[in-house]
Amino acid sequence: MSSEVLVLNRNFYAIQVTHWKRALCLVYLNHAFVVDQEYKTYDFEDWKDLSRAMMENSAGFVYTPTFKIAIPEVIALRVFDQLPKSEVTFTRRNIYEHYHHHCCYCGKKFPTSDLNLEHIVPRSRGGKTDWDNIVTSCISCNLRKGDRLPQEAGMKLLIQPSKPKWHAKRAILLRSPIPLRASWQRFVDNIYWDSQLEE
Ligand SMILES: [Zn+2]
Repeated sequence: MSSEVLVLNRNFYAIQVTHWKRALCLVYLNHAFVVDQEYKTYDFEDWKDLSRAMMENSAGFVYTPTFKIAIPEVIALRVFDQLPKSEVTFTRRNIYEHYHHHCCYCGKKFPTSDLNLEHIVPRSRGGKTDWDNIVTSCISCNLRKGDRLPQEAGMKLLIQPSKPKWHAKRAILLRSPIPLRASWQRFVDNIYWDSQLEE
C-alpha cells in the first residue's frame, strides 16, 4: 500500500505530498476532492461509491466496518492554495529552526538551551508576538538589550526578522524523499513551468 498522496492546489498545481490518512481526512472534511487519471473530481461520498465498485486500486484500500474506500493518488484542495495547516506555525520550535539556532543580534549559533525568544520592540512598548517582532537571541544579547529598542541599546540585528515561506517547489521537489509516481508527473511538470522564479 502506498502511503503518499499528491496534493494539488485549486489550480491543479502540485504543491505537496501528504500521507493518505491526511488526504482522506481532507476529502472527508470537504477541503479537497479526489482527482482521477482523467482529471475528474470526486467528493467523499462519490469517491466512496466509486470505491465500492473498484476491484483494484494501485494505492490500495482502507476498510472500515461498513465500507471500503480507495486510497487516492492525487487530491486537489478546494479553497486553499496550500494545505490548511501547512503554514509554518508560530511555535518556539519553528522559530528556533527558522533562524537555524542563531542569535539574530550577534549572529552566532547556540544550543537551544542558550537561546531566548526576543521581542524586537519590547512588549511594554506594544511590540507584538509574531514573526515580524520576535527573533531568537542568545542570553547575553538578550540581557544587554533588555527592555529597549535595538537602536536604544546600540545594537543591530545581523539577521532580520522574517516569516518562513512555504515553497511549493521545494516542498515537492526537495523535501520529498519519495520517488515521484508516474501518475503524478503531469501535475508536477506544471511546477517547472509555472512557478515564480527565485534567485
Ligand atoms: Zn547574541
